[in-house]
Amino acid sequence: MSRLDRSTAEALDAADELARFRDRFVIADPDLVYLDGNSLGRPSRAALERLRQVAEDEWAVGLVRSWEEWIGWPTQVGDRVGAAVLGAGPGQVVVSDSTSVNLYKLAAAALELRPGRSVMVCLDDEFPTDRYLLQGLAAARGGEVRVVGVDPSEGLQPDQLVDALDERVAVVLLSLVSYRSGALLDLERITRLVHDAGAVALWDLSHAVGSVPIGLDAAGVDLAAGCTYKHLNGGPGSPAFLYVRRDLLDRARPPIWGWWGHRDPFAMGPDHEPAPGIERFLVGTAPIPSLALVDEGVALVAEAGIEAVRAKSRALTSWFVELADARLAPLGFVLASPRDPDRRGGHVSLRHDEAWAVTRALVERARVVPDFRTPDRIRFGVSALSTTFTEVWDAVDRLVGVVERGEHRAVDASGRRVT
Ligand SMILES: *Cc1c(COP(=O)(O)O)cnc(C)c1O
Repeated sequence: MSRLDRSTAEALDAADELARFRDRFVIADPDLVYLDGNSLGRPSRAALERLRQVAEDEWAVGLVRSWEEWIGWPTQVGDRVGAAVLGAGPGQVVVSDSTSVNLYKLAAAALELRPGRSVMVCLDDEFPTDRYLLQGLAAARGGEVRVVGVDPSEGLQPDQLVDALDERVAVVLLSLVSYRSGALLDLERITRLVHDAGAVALWDLSHAVGSVPIGLDAAGVDLAAGCTYKHLNGGPGSPAFLYVRRDLLDRARPPIWGWWGHRDPFAMGPDHEPAPGIERFLVGTAPIPSLALVDEGVALVAEAGIEAVRAKSRALTSWFVELADARLAPLGFVLASPRDPDRRGGHVSLRHDEAWAVTRALVERARVVPDFRTPDRIRFGVSALSTTFTEVWDAVDRLVGVVERGEHRAVDASGRRVT
């Protein structure tokens, strides 16, 4: 018997304190190995029940009267997200709009917080929407985007950031966990470097939230936003969160002045008066069914505890890397994520010359769902509350089979709209 046998995975599952959470999710097909919860998390049973309740009881029965309750949800759910997974005290988080829209709102506010500075810094390997948003802002307001080139497997090194900072930089937008490699940055240290240069630190927490512990207040972060449909399991298109540090709230001005950001929306007054608190960053009517789903997703992570989630997530990705070294490296797969688990979030990427065809073969013929990221990476995400060590073993074993049998040469590897 060897350490790399399936029985080791079974023993790891037997000893796993979070194993009991798997039953809390809807696992429609137990044979499907789902390693894409970092792109779209699974639904929990509680979430579906809550959705039914919102639709049948609150919407169908309560009708418009239910808004009396619902109107408070963007901030109430925001506070719960803040407490459970962001390390943020109350009154600094709302859940609304998409991550893209929220990043735009925050980057625009950041520019105004640094009058006389107009450079916005981001990475060449950043999730594209982040870069596009800054480009759009620069085009609209006459600023400039400074793009830092980084190694797409190892992520940003602090020295590279220091070299890009000067007295013209207004804001630095970075992902805590890189969407491609999973590289995890040091939130406190990087935020300090940005502050030392006099700039605003704006963090995209999309791949980090619900997977790694985050201490926004402790790190002195200025602004942050991120997705709730990834590790928080809020469902497709669920609204994103947005954080503004308390002492910036009266100065940070959102670029979109909607009625939900007004001091008193139902006064229906002639002119915009921003709400005094974080509500000023709301824009329009909240997506109530989705907000309820976010609430349930966060509640489950809170119940498990983010430290326990991180410990298991780390163990799962380490198990994947151990198996990949032994069984996939000989087949041409190269680790495209930091090897040190302290520098890695909740997913691992592998590079392969035929990555796209291999991804298609895994999905179509081996019942394993990872995702593909250009140009040559397959991304494997683990969800600590539902992924098992045995699933990780099965994914690697099925991947070996697919490549050994040459099944990736037999699939239709033409383009798709979604990869
Ligand atoms: C998933 C992701 C997004 C997605 O933004 P949406 O507005 O929800 O489409 C943005 N940034 C990063 C880093 C992401 O990983």
